[in-house]
Amino acid sequence: MNYQKVINEIYQTIHNQENIGQVASYIPELSKVDPSNFGVCLRTIKNEEFGAGDWQTKFSIQSISKVLSLSLAYKILGDSIWKRVGVEPSGNPFNSLIQLETDNGIPRNPLINAGAMVICDILISHTENATNDFLQFVRKICSNNNINYSESIAQSEKATGYRNIALCNFIKSFGNIENDPATVLDFYFHMCSIEMSCQDLTKTFMFLMDNNFRTPENERVLNTSQAKRINAIMETCGFYDESGEFAFKVGLPGKSGVGGGILALHPNEYCIAIWSPKLNKKGNSSRGMKFLESFTTKTNSSIF
Ligand code: GLN
Repeated sequence: MNYQKVINEIYQTIHNQENIGQVASYIPELSKVDPSNFGVCLRTIKNEEFGAGDWQTKFSIQSISKVLSLSLAYKILGDSIWKRVGVEPSGNPFNSLIQLETDNGIPRNPLINAGAMVICDILISHTENATNDFLQFVRKICSNNNINYSESIAQSEKATGYRNIALCNFIKSFGNIENDPATVLDFYFHMCSIEMSCQDLTKTFMFLMDNNFRTPENERVLNTSQAKRINAIMETCGFYDESGEFAFKVGLPGKSGVGGGILALHPNEYCIAIWSPKLNKKGNSSRGMKFLESFTTKTNSSIF
């Protein structure tokens, strides 16, 4: 498979089309990004790397980070985390409060905001310093010490995150947040503010694609069964109320973020990251969705 050729072709086609959608502006700092940015990186299981456009430019990965915090909590605590958060698709927007009332504060899954906050709470309770330990974890699996939080984006979200503040307090009222909500939210906003390029993302997510992946210290991140489960959650919940559509059109486990990034992977074959900041109505990158639909169609590589 000539991945570079396929990537270049799709990139050019989409680049020539109108760049539709809206850049996220509810986090004011995110609206400063240049909407014309467009990057793609693919990494195979043999660690061959292919890129196009702005694939080495760092951006705010936002909710893509939720997969990494979930993986760290799963690594530390194993299956006991599922007592605090479910594994069912929500069919609702990422910041919805609706189901929490009927579900008694147990979020449907760890990839919606409510579920990611419970995971943040778990990490705060079971690490020395969650903000620092999480960053070190991400740096280690990416083999890159140059990965950082964006303090300006974290503070911008903190100053305007009324809905997230409501969510965290609401879950606390059901007893499913152990720590002070302000502490949980501070970690949550930092966790979402991590900046990476498409190239960094494909390196970071190798541990979910390659069963033989080891960190530089020759350590496994998750076992095979745990990695399968995280991929299953990405498949069913990674795009919120557009998860069915993503499975239907693309057919890969993946995760989006409101910074315009999408990470998707084909187990044992490749990891792919796309970045284009303009989002569709569900909060997923418009060009990213288009790119991946075309990519799995042309390469005949959906998991279905
Ligand atoms: N930090 C963002 C929020 O909580 C993440 C949302 C996203 O990327 N879908 O609203």
